[in-house]
Amino acid sequence: MNPSIVKKAAAGLFLLALALFPLIITNDYYIHMAQMIGITVIVTQGLNLLSGYAGQISLGHAGLYAIGAYAAAIVTTNFEMPYLAGLVASILCSAVVGLLIGIPALRVKGHYLAMVTIGVGIIIEKVMNEGGDLTGGFAGISGIPGPEMFGFSLTGTGIYYMIVILAAVITVLLWNLIRTRPGRAFLALRDSETAAEAMGISRYRYKLIAFVLSAVITGIGGNMYAHTNNYVSPDSFTSHLSIFLLAMVILGGMGTVIGPIIGTILLYLLPEALKNFDDYHLIIYGVILLAFIVGLPGGIASLLPKAYRPKETLFNEEKLSKETVGGYEPGVVQGAENNHQAILEIVNLTKRFSGVVANDRVSMSVERGTIHSLIGPNGSGKTTCLHSISGLYRYDEGEVLFEGKSITSLKLHEKVGIGIARTFQHAQIFKELTVLENVMIGEHNLRKTGFLGGAMLLPRVVKEEKESQREALRILDWFGMKELAFAKSGDLPYGYQKILEIARAMASRPKLLILDEPAAGLTNTEIEQLEHILIKLRGAGVTILLVEHDMRLIMKVSNAITVLDSGRVIAEGSPADIQDNPQVIQAYLGDRKVG
Ligand code: ADP
Ligand code: MG
Repeated sequence: MNPSIVKKAAAGLFLLALALFPLIITNDYYIHMAQMIGITVIVTQGLNLLSGYAGQISLGHAGLYAIGAYAAAIVTTNFEMPYLAGLVASILCSAVVGLLIGIPALRVKGHYLAMVTIGVGIIIEKVMNEGGDLTGGFAGISGIPGPEMFGFSLTGTGIYYMIVILAAVITVLLWNLIRTRPGRAFLALRDSETAAEAMGISRYRYKLIAFVLSAVITGIGGNMYAHTNNYVSPDSFTSHLSIFLLAMVILGGMGTVIGPIIGTILLYLLPEALKNFDDYHLIIYGVILLAFIVGLPGGIASLLPKAYRPKETLFNEEKLSKETVGGYEPGVVQGAENNHQAILEIVNLTKRFSGVVANDRVSMSVERGTIHSLIGPNGSGKTTCLHSISGLYRYDEGEVLFEGKSITSLKLHEKVGIGIARTFQHAQIFKELTVLENVMIGEHNLRKTGFLGGAMLLPRVVKEEKESQREALRILDWFGMKELAFAKSGDLPYGYQKILEIARAMASRPKLLILDEPAAGLTNTEIEQLEHILIKLRGAGVTILLVEHDMRLIMKVSNAITVLDSGRVIAEGSPADIQDNPQVIQAYLGDRKVG
């Protein structure tokens, strides 16, 4: 049967079951359980946004959940203010705390970040316990009213429906977000922060937004918790819960839309099913959980064949791949009017690492419309020089001018906006994403879709996404990779990954393309393809700064060559000059075959 019909039928049945549930099951215990599952889905979706999509592991989400719950309890019960005031307080307070956790997260990663989030969870637990009259200490706050808006007050079944709608809306908004420009930026940061920045994505901005959005969604879950249970206490938001929430996301399928839903339902129902095992139930429970996490790292969602999972692209893959997509012109678009002859000038650039002078007063000038190669032995400072130009490194002395203007103060993610794109010596692709998505991230800076538009999937967003996909397909077609558009890029042979990196860089329509050893790891046939690509790009007006070891390629394509040795420029000139330069032969070329 057609997978898309199966998917629609399954989703329809699931929604129908949710709608009919309180009409069939009238037992209060089960209604309450369903309410709690729905609230927890809201929280795990929030956690999945941060940990699954943006790649920032949090072990403190129970703390954010508590913030939302206590804010609601304090405002509506201690201060007897209306429900909506409590909701605003839940959102604002969790946003502020999310921001506060996000700031250290800009400096620390991985395990260290997990430690920071655990710390925040513990502090929040402490505040709940020691908060005196405000938080009610160990006893917490009771007598919290149910949700009341515009003269309606909800109870039991009404609250159940409200939770289901809220969870569904949040799930769909996140699903939309992740399939459009801003969500893709999260995925890019997760896979390679450096490459994401090189494509114009500000790490600071997007990480902070991920923390704040995740916190707000979790806080909304907390708000719902308070009004559903009419009672909050520190016991409900322990650090165990944080681990439990993360386990739900991992078990269901981290970084997928349905993962948090599956994981939450299962981890709620499992203890119920194991109740009859008395004292052993926790052990059995732990073993099942561990077996899943170890044996199925992609979570339960990964058991579904791709065609049966929620769509990861907005448009029909088959239709897209059949569309004619010719007509890509790699020509320069961004601010083409500037005609400063030397597109890039490096003046006395010096970069030191404790003890090592990696670049020692390096000066060179790259003419517009040329391929300028930078060569030299391993460790001579080529990559360091490219890092300094692109903003990955801060250099100690000297200056870099682009089209006659100093770009010393621009950061890595700002370079793509003025027309500088680059690749890396060790290919930095977004390996969990498709080839097409990689190239679309290259367009990040040229597109506009923001968070609100993306989450709501406004008509103009759909239009822009379509155009962005088409452009990415055109580019892939030009690079001879269109057939691979929907393949996972991490599965590609290394040579293709390196070419993909160039295609992605070209998607930003740069004036200057910086390549760090693009031929390394390529087969001879692929190197020939690369040669054609470089010559075609130059023909279209793109200037290329090329670091390479393959002398045959260098001699064939270069207009000019600069030679580095131990961080210093030792020669500069045409390929013929360099080939015959005794100093270069002695330092680098030696008996390298130059054909
Ligand atoms: P190349 O790309 O020409 O092989 P690099 O620019 O990578 O050379 O390295 C030049 C010198 O700078 C080497 O001695 C290297 O060890 C040193 N170096 C490069 N990056 C760093 C770093 N992040 N920290 C310390 N030393 C570095
Ligand atoms: Mg290098």
